[in-house]
Amino acid sequence: MSNSVFKCGAVAALNTQKSIRKNANIYAIALDGPSGAGKSTVAKLVAKELGITYLDTGALYRALGLVCLNNDVDVKDGIAVENCIKAVDVNIIYEGGVQTVTTDGADVTSKIRTPEVSMAASAVSAIPYVRQKLLGLQRGIAEKSSVILDGRDIGTVVLPNAEYKFFLTASAEVRAKRRFDELTAKGQAVVYADVYNDVVTRDRNDSTRAIAPLKRASDAVEINSDNMTAEAVAKYICFTVNGDIL
Ligand code: C5P
Repeated sequence: MSNSVFKCGAVAALNTQKSIRKNANIYAIALDGPSGAGKSTVAKLVAKELGITYLDTGALYRALGLVCLNNDVDVKDGIAVENCIKAVDVNIIYEGGVQTVTTDGADVTSKIRTPEVSMAASAVSAIPYVRQKLLGLQRGIAEKSSVILDGRDIGTVVLPNAEYKFFLTASAEVRAKRRFDELTAKGQAVVYADVYNDVVTRDRNDSTRAIAPLKRASDAVEINSDNMTAEAVAKYICFTVNGDIL
C-alpha cells in the first residue's frame, strides 16, 4: 500500500510494547471506535487475511441487551438489569470461522442487529456489572489464540497490553450512511434520520459513561476511514502487523 492511500493519517506511534503472555507465540489486535466506523467489516477481513480469531465484543453487549428487552426490563435500571442477566450464560461459539452468540444455549445471532437492540446494548453497557460479567469472557478468548477484538474499550481496559492498537473513526454522517445501507441490505425498513440519531446518541452514551468510555488508547493508531474502504483499512492493519513498511 502506498503512503498516499493512507493519507487520513496515523496520529499516534505504533504500540510496540509486547505484553507478557503465557503463550508468547500469540498476539492481540485491539480495534476500537464509535458505532458504524466499519470495525466489524475491517476486523473480519484482517482475521481472514492473518488467520486469527475475530471477536465482535459488541455482540456480547447486544445479547445481554436483548435478554433485558425480552424480559421487559428497563435497560437503564442497573439493579433490574443485574438481576435479569445475573444467571444468563452468554457465550460465543466459533464454527467454520463464523461467530455465533448464544444466551443460555439459544442462538441469538440473527436477533441482535436491530436498532432497538443497538440502543439497549448501549444502555446496558454503561452498567458496571454488565462490563464485569463480559470482561473475563473477552480476555479468556484472547488468551487462547491470536485475536482481533473490536469494541470500545479493548485497547484501554480489556487488553491494555495488546500488541497492536487501532482506533477507527469516521464522521457521524458517513457512519450513519454505512449503517443505513447495511440495515437496508438486510431488508430492515429504516429511515436515514433515525439511523443518524441513533449513531449520535450512541456516540454520546458510549463516550460519556463513567466506566470504560469509548476513547482512543494513548498508544493506539487512529485511522479516519471517511475516504477509505474497509479493504484499505484492513490492508493497512495487516501490513502493520506483518511488520512491512508502508
Ligand atoms: O459494536 P456494536 O455497535 O455492536 O456495539 C453495541 C453497543 O455495545 C455499543 O453501542 C456500546 O455501547 C457497547 N459496547 C461497549 N463496549 C464494547 C463493545 C460494545 O460498550 N467493547
